[in-house]
Amino acid sequence: MEEKTVNIDIRKDLFGANEDAAALNAAKFKEHGIKVFDIMGSVGTGKTQLIEALCDLIADDHKILMLAGDLATRIDADRVSSHGVDTVQINTGTACHLDARMVKVALNEIPLSDYDVMFIENVGNLICPAGYSLGAMKKVVVVSVTEGPYMVRKHPLTIKRADMIVINKIDLAQALEFDVDALVRDVREVDADIPVLKISAKTGEGVRELAKQLGI
Ligand code: MG
Ligand code: ZN
Repeated sequence: MEEKTVNIDIRKDLFGANEDAAALNAAKFKEHGIKVFDIMGSVGTGKTQLIEALCDLIADDHKILMLAGDLATRIDADRVSSHGVDTVQINTGTACHLDARMVKVALNEIPLSDYDVMFIENVGNLICPAGYSLGAMKKVVVVSVTEGPYMVRKHPLTIKRADMIVINKIDLAQALEFDVDALVRDVREVDADIPVLKISAKTGEGVRELAKQLGI
């Protein structure tokens, strides 16, 4: 008899399927003329605050949708809703990142052509969200001065897969004796060309420049 062995690379198949779904999402976003940004970063880095600041800046002339990924709560979506922005919550249960299919399902009933911009706040975690494309125009990684000096060095793959790095909470750098330029140099070690923006979502410093770089 014939003896046959089939080796299946589950990880490869999973990622491949996600990339296909992400490409479909991207095509749909383009068709509806909506600019989509995937905002990634660990818990407490200020992703929601950054989205709130951007919404306040552009809400007058953009219709915005916010898609929030979270294990169990609506806290972030509710915060952004309070700025008059439409929100969709995805509760992932046990999944520590969003994937392209979750985004597709969550947007099923949403008339995307009603919106100009969508911010996706990914699950608070700097490791696996970067491995799952959602179909966004840009992957924005947010780190902040409150997370200690090694966030970039410890997450090189995430930095590599990002399109832009935002260093948030620079208003606290001096009080915490945090060397923001050293963090920028860490980014440069991984990627010589990626845009790095220093901002304070709280005071608004750098937020206008961020919006400009995002093209919104
Ligand atoms: Mg948040
Ligand atoms: Zn995960």
